[in-house]
Amino acid sequence: MLTHFIGGEPVTAGTAFPVHDPMTGAVIRQVGEADPEVVDRAVRAAREAARDWAALPVAERAGWLRRLAEGIEERFDDLVAAEIADTGKPLDQTRTLDIPRGIANFRAFAEIAAHRPDEAFHLSGVLSYTVRRPLGVVAVIVPWNLPFLLMTWKLAPALVAGNTVVVKPSEHTPGSAAVFAEICAAAGLPPGVVNIIYGHGSAGQLLVEHPWVDAVTFTGSTRTGSAIMRAVADRVKPVSFELGGKNAALVFEDCDLERAVEGCVRSVFTNGGQVCLCTERLYVQRPIFEEFGERLAARAQEVVPQPMISAEHREKVLSYYALARSEGAKVLAGGGTPSFGDQRDSGYFVDPTVVTGLSEWSRFNREEIFGPVCHVTPFDTESEAIDLANNSDYGLAAAIWTGGLDRAHRVAQRLEAGLVWVNTWYLRDLRTPFGGLRLSGIGREGGTQSLDFYSEPTTITIKMEQPDA
Ligand code: NDP
Repeated sequence: MLTHFIGGEPVTAGTAFPVHDPMTGAVIRQVGEADPEVVDRAVRAAREAARDWAALPVAERAGWLRRLAEGIEERFDDLVAAEIADTGKPLDQTRTLDIPRGIANFRAFAEIAAHRPDEAFHLSGVLSYTVRRPLGVVAVIVPWNLPFLLMTWKLAPALVAGNTVVVKPSEHTPGSAAVFAEICAAAGLPPGVVNIIYGHGSAGQLLVEHPWVDAVTFTGSTRTGSAIMRAVADRVKPVSFELGGKNAALVFEDCDLERAVEGCVRSVFTNGGQVCLCTERLYVQRPIFEEFGERLAARAQEVVPQPMISAEHREKVLSYYALARSEGAKVLAGGGTPSFGDQRDSGYFVDPTVVTGLSEWSRFNREEIFGPVCHVTPFDTESEAIDLANNSDYGLAAAIWTGGLDRAHRVAQRLEAGLVWVNTWYLRDLRTPFGGLRLSGIGREGGTQSLDFYSEPTTITIKMEQPDA
């Protein structure tokens, strides 16, 4: 049974729950569920370690981040195997994106924190400067779609800013976090700086409500984000939320059509559409609408399906396929489930799917589906396209496909989204702000924005007496 990692030690506790291989549905591991006592023990361990960890010079904490990056490199193959077992991701994607990004997160935040200047303000004999102190114990709740990438994206800045953490991975994907616990232990990281607990149904709420948890960072559904806000409201704990989206792509007639089709194939179908940044609404200028739709549908049929994370999530995605039909959609590709003739037939697969013909106000076009599916809508003018893209309760990401330089800037600046790509998608500089508007979340992480969230400034002001003339 997979054990919790508390105060530097493996802890076996809690009722076991199973983790399934999404490729086949088979049970691959049993995990102990953190009960109130385990959650309390983890938070206490983090609290006990907090003072000494915060007292280290930032250069030393940055050194720890580099050592953890080396530890990840040493256990690279184990992390790849754990991530693939839990998620069913392709080997190539896991080797080139998920695990390398974990290494990059530790290295990048070590550099950013170590070289960050403090602020000072000088005005008429008054000097003010700010010092930053850590928040204390941070609860890190990580989703199942990019488990290692997103865990390290939050952990690295939280640690280098001087916080200790209690991590709660998704119940579907504890494997890479368990390997990371071993990496922390092998590196000799001070006990209690990183604690990892597993749970399924109650551990998350117990963790965020714990009075010694000072802040919460969460990536996942808007519904759970709201529940966390309610749970921490009484103690006004800071929260950083990245809560998904209903992302639009705008394809203009002056685009490089081949590049736009391939870009949209990536942005719709990567990771089976289970990335918060994936495109679910495509708007295509009318002169190229027919051809674009045909080419995208043809490519969708060539995409190798990736499993959904769980049987429940597969049912959710299929329910939207059924909804599209009942709302009157025309299905251009997919719409059902693939058949492989092997053990994958008991896995959690759905067809890569393209539909058209629905209203902007249909549930299908307004709700996050989180599967390999998009709706394609024609538009005539640039301002119409912008209005269509902005007509959403979410505001995380958007992509523009155009050959016009002026149009690219003009449209990008009017799109109500936290991230806008032009003629590309998913390209990230770790120093840039990341996050979304409206139901897509609160706050920004990335670069110094992460360090700002994981610390509190204190302003110190000194009045300098002037000598008598
Ligand atoms: P959720 O987003 O609902 O998050 C589940 C996680 O949150 C678990 O770790 C759970 O732990 C914890 N949690 C649940 N309730 C609370 C609470 N009240 N307080 C604190 N923690 C809590 O994940 P689902 O798997 O249910 O996904 C549902 C939908 O979310 C998906 O279909 C997709 O649309 C979206 N999603 C978005 C992602 C993104 O990247 N933005 C990523 C993944 C999903 P525990 O059960 O132990 O309490």
